[in-house]
Amino acid sequence: MSAVPSVDARVRLVQHTEHPDEVIATAARVCYAGDTERLFERRPGEARELVARLCAMGHHSPLEHASFTFYLEGVSRALTHQLVRHRVASYSQRSQRYISHDRFDYVVPPRLEGRTVRAGEDEVDAVEYFEETMALIAERYAALNDALGRSGERSNEDARYVLPNACETKIVVTMNARELLHFFGERLCQRAQWEIRRVADQMLERVRAVAPAAFQLAGPKCVQQGRCPEGERSCGREAEMRARYLEPHSGEDGQ
Ligand SMILES: Cc1cc2nc3c(=O)[nH]c(=O)nc-3n(C[C@H](O)[C@H](O)[C@H](O)COP(=O)(O)OP(=O)(O)OC[C@H]3O[C@@H](n4cnc5c(N)ncnc54)[C@H](O)[C@@H]3O)c2cc1C
Repeated sequence: MSAVPSVDARVRLVQHTEHPDEVIATAARVCYAGDTERLFERRPGEARELVARLCAMGHHSPLEHASFTFYLEGVSRALTHQLVRHRVASYSQRSQRYISHDRFDYVVPPRLEGRTVRAGEDEVDAVEYFEETMALIAERYAALNDALGRSGERSNEDARYVLPNACETKIVVTMNARELLHFFGERLCQRAQWEIRRVADQMLERVRAVAPAAFQLAGPKCVQQGRCPEGERSCGREAEMRARYLEPHSGEDGQ
């Protein structure tokens, strides 16, 4: 069987609203300002203070004016299935209909490392077993695509039914700052799966570099809400999470 390579997530912030903290602050000032003369003057320091105050008060609607577009690759279809459940966002994902997957990359769950699988009489390494399964799927996909006439979109769309959740994919996602805060709350939580947590961590790192005030209080929901709402299912690591996500951050155009 041919070897097919495993991959790791890569997150690129490809585009964002220019000066996001300032745009959010301008939107907020419209709500309160009697005098509109100075609304559009650039005042980065003041803007950050105002946005930090808005976030602390939970006045989140002005955050909707700043938007962020990411390119994710090296992620699994399992991850993107979780990601696209977030509805206040836009997505464009690599197609399994237009693109043949005779050879596909895949994501290996790290917890398989060091484990074994019982296969008949033998104990085999779990990662090797996983990789052999991927290679077998790739072979079967190709055979089924041949059987379907290898006609591009028409045969790809049916052959893909054997592709695994581990299959690597690429996706562009755009979210505004308010939805990102909600996304981070859910997906940085220790109850979320390791892969989407890793991606969410990378996304937060990227947006904090360009909008430090908007994302100053970002983190899992225990950090954002000041307490864990998960009850019995709480990981009990609120203090660790606060230390990890609320340490001071500086922006690329920081004051
Ligand atoms: C740890 C974890 C486990 C999960 N397990 C499962 C599972 O077993 N099965 C499953 O199906 N899903 C599961 N999910 C997905 C989850 O149910 C949500 O679909 C996902 O987290 C998207 O979040 P959301 O719906 O709050 O918000 P988003 O879609 O990101 O929207 C943000 C907010 O906008 C508002 N909003 C958006 N759309 C509407 C609407 N139509 N009507 C009213 N308000 C709206 C809501 O306030 C919402 O919170 C899980 C998620 C996590 C984090």
